[in-house]
Amino acid sequence: MPDIVTDNKMVIDRLYAGELPGRDELKQLLTCHSEEDAEYLFKLARQVRENAYGKDVYIRGLVEFTNYCRNNCYYCGIRHGNSNACRYRLSDGEIYSCCDEGYSLGFRTFVLQGGEDMYFTKEKLCGIIEHIKKKHPDCAITLSVGERDYKDYLAWYESGADRYLLRHETASAEHYNKLHPAEMSSGHRKECLWQLKDIGYQTGAGFMAGSPFQTPDCLVDDLYFLYELKPHMAGIGPFIPQKDTPFAGRSSGTLEQTLFLLGIIRLLLPDVLLPATTALGTIAPDGRERGLMAGANVVMPNLSPVSVRDKYNLYDNKISTGEESAQCTELLRKRIEQTGYNMVTGRGDFKKYKQKQTGE
Ligand code: SAM
Repeated sequence: MPDIVTDNKMVIDRLYAGELPGRDELKQLLTCHSEEDAEYLFKLARQVRENAYGKDVYIRGLVEFTNYCRNNCYYCGIRHGNSNACRYRLSDGEIYSCCDEGYSLGFRTFVLQGGEDMYFTKEKLCGIIEHIKKKHPDCAITLSVGERDYKDYLAWYESGADRYLLRHETASAEHYNKLHPAEMSSGHRKECLWQLKDIGYQTGAGFMAGSPFQTPDCLVDDLYFLYELKPHMAGIGPFIPQKDTPFAGRSSGTLEQTLFLLGIIRLLLPDVLLPATTALGTIAPDGRERGLMAGANVVMPNLSPVSVRDKYNLYDNKISTGEESAQCTELLRKRIEQTGYNMVTGRGDFKKYKQKQTGE
């Protein structure tokens, strides 16, 4: 009888060597591993991230500029059907003030995130992107505004947007249909991701760990999809229930599983920009630090005006103060330094993109 621990280590070694293990091997690794396996995975994940990005941890200023959304994802607190959500939209001036404040705090990437709010037309967002780029030409803009037309994505890219985050949520069409109403589809979301990559965005996909109805097979689908897409960024955080959604009362994803997935994804995509997410910091006070120790290399503190932070209520108890607040960068710097890494101000581009730009 082969020893399971040894088998898992062999699968981890193969990931480290750049190979994609078989579905059954990945499934066993995900469902049946020891603490020792996890420590081994994290050790290799740190080696790989240090080869790619040294000890740097990049920071992004997150501006949650609208919580209006046309969609009705069953897990999300800003879903259209949540009549308890207190809706807001930042004005152009408020968005610019967030970026100006972020710039003076040292941020060189602004992430403009919101629900799928059609008030922000192609033209309106082009104007906002152009204004920010003119004022802060040394900064990167990341958009995260959901599924839109190809021509919108193209126009925003041509206006100066650099990156786009669109989690695929789950790569299994069957699972996708259990998390979303019939008018949404996994196929369309994936198609958007291919379009974004094709246009030239540094593109981010990702999913929630422990979402309702997720099985080990779904996670294997997610890992295979990420390997196929080869995104520049991957957003992986635990699912956390929100009280006004159909999934209120469901269990959260676990810290342990999320960390393990981060480690695997670091080996699968060595150069990926991998955030230790807010959701990870919400389920455990040291969640983000542990994310960094499992292979993550990005943190995204909140730059939104304090008055709207509790309205962007994707899930219960979402943190937005302390080192989660962009205003507390010194606190964040210390927390990051305690892990042995360094907080870096600077755009923090995907490695190969940076090499292309600078000829490094
Ligand atoms: N509208 C954009 C989109 O569709 O990508 C961006 C905003 S959306 C709210 C950002 C992400 O929040 C989603 O991709 C989802 O993975 C995450 N999210 C939503 N509800 C969540 C929950 N209950 N627990 C954890 N993450 C959640």
